[in-house]
Amino acid sequence: MNPSAFKILLIEDSQTDALFLKTSLSNIAPNEFLINHVTDLKSSFILLHQDAFDAIILDLLLPQNQELQALKKIQKTFPNIPVVVLTGVKDDQLALQALREGAQDYFVKGEYLGERLVRGIRYAIERAQILETVRQQRRREQLLVEIARRIHASLELSVILETTVIEIRHFLGVDQAAIYKFSLSGYSHFIAESVVSNAPSLLHQSFNNCYFSPLLFLPIEADSKIALHDVKQVGLNLEDLRDFEQHQIRAVVLVPIVLEQELWGLLSVHQCFQARQWQEWEIDLLKQVTIQLAIAIHQAQLYQKLERFNEKLQRLVAIDGLTQIANRRQFDYYLQQQWKRSRREQSAISLIMCDVDHFKLYNDCYGHQQGDDCLCRVAKVMESSVQRPSDLVARYGGEEFAIILPNTNLQGALRVAHGIQQAVRNLEIPHLLSSVSRWVTMSLGVATLYPCGNALPEQLIQSADEAMYQAKELGRNCIAIAQSCPVQVTEQ
Ligand code: GH3
Ligand code: MG
Ligand code: MG
Repeated sequence: MNPSAFKILLIEDSQTDALFLKTSLSNIAPNEFLINHVTDLKSSFILLHQDAFDAIILDLLLPQNQELQALKKIQKTFPNIPVVVLTGVKDDQLALQALREGAQDYFVKGEYLGERLVRGIRYAIERAQILETVRQQRRREQLLVEIARRIHASLELSVILETTVIEIRHFLGVDQAAIYKFSLSGYSHFIAESVVSNAPSLLHQSFNNCYFSPLLFLPIEADSKIALHDVKQVGLNLEDLRDFEQHQIRAVVLVPIVLEQELWGLLSVHQCFQARQWQEWEIDLLKQVTIQLAIAIHQAQLYQKLERFNEKLQRLVAIDGLTQIANRRQFDYYLQQQWKRSRREQSAISLIMCDVDHFKLYNDCYGHQQGDDCLCRVAKVMESSVQRPSDLVARYGGEEFAIILPNTNLQGALRVAHGIQQAVRNLEIPHLLSSVSRWVTMSLGVATLYPCGNALPEQLIQSADEAMYQAKELGRNCIAIAQSCPVQVTEQ
């Protein structure tokens, strides 16, 4: 018996006709067709459900099967099996109708059923196979589009990798799909996987031997890949085999993930408990998925870069270029926010304005460059003088600084002001031309408010500013408290 013979189901109520047809076929094409004969539709359905047939030959004149009922029933239940029909001599119209209903060909009983019959069956089978291939191809393409859509749905690398392995495992029905990330300097390991519950996890594991070497050391080509149907049968060295066995991998496909001509990692698909004859289309699909994956990874990396850049930009926008503390813009923004918060919580907010004394003379004496250095040192020491994360030290402009102290009453603000005055003094930056000290000093104005009603933060600035000028008038190197605002001093 020819194992590749086409399996044909002949549905014919006349034993004589059936015998004649069987004999004709085996004479013309010996061993090409394996024919099962049934005499009625009911028996044909039993067989069709039990076995896979390549084609059906159907007698259209079966008893109790008028109007092509038998053909219609068969096609409805088994749409992928091609049917050729047999008709009587005078049944041209019926035959044509059968063709319209989807029969592949028709033959008239009693006529010489020679080569033409054999050819007719062969073509019917071939057509059905081509149709099936096209159908499968279309289905795979649709699935690939769907997988690609899901992979591209996120810009988060971990989500992209997770989605890929889940989609692949489900689509190919494999035990495990995983992504191996290469690192030239550090530790190469599996960073994502989807795995059946009874197989071991590969996450964070590394392969130390030559398992990946063919892909690692070969120049990366578009079609480089490894597909092992059964690791026990392909003559691997003992070390590699042990590695596979230890991780319970029996059949594997590895496809490189290439980013900008560099090997980024591998997509690794495994069967854990038995060998698997990988199909060409499966390997093709994995290659297509890795192309999509590489694009998605690249996009995620660009997005990350953009985010980092944006963060940096945000910082730059908020920071003073010379002193590296918050700038005026950040001061305005933060004061607005904290002002609203204090109003909501009915809490105090304090502001200290500080101005370096005789700084013009300092520049004249030591030069502008050293003046800059002095401002940087003063800014730094001021920043380390404030305690709470919510306190903000900003460069207000020139040699003037401002400190926002949310939730801080006058007493607390005065404490901070004294701390700053002392800290600047302790820097002992010489200032030969100053009339108030040997060292660089500051004049500080402190204001505290409980924001309410329509009061604006500008009021707080004005009060602290006035206090600062008062300190200048009082002889510099001192702290003055704003008079013009309703200050409420309470214990903190
Ligand atoms: P007072 O004690 O009354 O504050 O006197 P002052 O000299 O400090 O005040 P004035 O406003 O007359 O001068 C401020 C000086 O600060 C003038 C300006 O050149 C200098 N200055 C402002 N910004 C900078 C800067 O970024 N770097 C340097 N080196 N100097 C600056
Ligand atoms: Mg000034
Ligand atoms: Mg000054």
